[in-house]
Amino acid sequence: MSDFRADLHCHSTCSDGSRTPKELVELAVDIGLKGLSITDHDSVAAYATALPRAAELGLPMISGVEFSTHHKGTDVHLLAYSFPTGHEQITALCARHKQRRQGRSRQILSLLAKRGIDLSQDKELADAIEYGPAVGRPHIAAALIRRGIVKTTEAAFQQFLGDGRCCFVSTNQISTEETIAVIHAAGGLAVLAHPQLVKDTRVLYEIFTMPLDGIEAYYARFGFERSKEWLELAAKKDWLVTGGSDYHGAAKPQIPLGASWVAEDTFRVLQKHYLSHA
Ligand code: AMP
Ligand code: FE
Ligand code: FE
Ligand code: ZN
Repeated sequence: MSDFRADLHCHSTCSDGSRTPKELVELAVDIGLKGLSITDHDSVAAYATALPRAAELGLPMISGVEFSTHHKGTDVHLLAYSFPTGHEQITALCARHKQRRQGRSRQILSLLAKRGIDLSQDKELADAIEYGPAVGRPHIAAALIRRGIVKTTEAAFQQFLGDGRCCFVSTNQISTEETIAVIHAAGGLAVLAHPQLVKDTRVLYEIFTMPLDGIEAYYARFGFERSKEWLELAAKKDWLVTGGSDYHGAAKPQIPLGASWVAEDTFRVLQKHYLSHA
């Protein structure tokens, strides 16, 4: 059996992961992965340092990003692959997200302040909001832990930040359809991330009618049983079947890099598409 495994879903410090892009590449090589895509939330900043390190170590990479989108009130994550990382439409969409994320973080901070929790002196959080490519709720959760308000990220979501909780701010700005159009305009492939996490089934079925190129059927948090439905759908639609761990590092220690992956045939299709822009 071939030992080719490529993890197509992981996060670096450019969004809410705990390893730098270089460290992620090094870890991938250490554990014997033969291919990698870093899919930060709404940012491709990782590629500036990941690509040179991957070239040094001989690790094949394809571009990737996980866009936060919205369809009829439901959050939908879309993975984009194999686009040129400097494409102006991708750059513009990431810039919109950066602004949205900054604004949302500040709104969450004022909701917390109204409850007597003032995080304005947390330098690490302030820097993430000001300079981070994709600040998110996990950064605020980390600040709440530093202040001793909660003990775990999970508790921070449970008490304050999770959907519908007291300091939740919705992100309903950029639609799934618009995001697919941008990915295609940039020459990339649009893949529905972790379909299991789309909360509204009717929304999920509407998304299945959109012009997707693939579906993430292999996802570490769910067993193989849950993949079957997506594999059948992908066969019917002639979609790519992708997979990845959704590794975040220390933030989600229960999921190691490489916990979910694709085999060589899938990686080669994506790599060929990626290299066609070069
Ligand atoms: P945001 O992108 O700011 O909406 O934050 C969403 C991110 O927070 C997800 O990508 C996860 O990494 C993380 N997250 C969401 N829910 C939880 C939770 N209940 N516990 C820990 N992390 C979570
Ligand atoms: Fe995340
Ligand atoms: Fe996601
Ligand atoms: Zn992810």
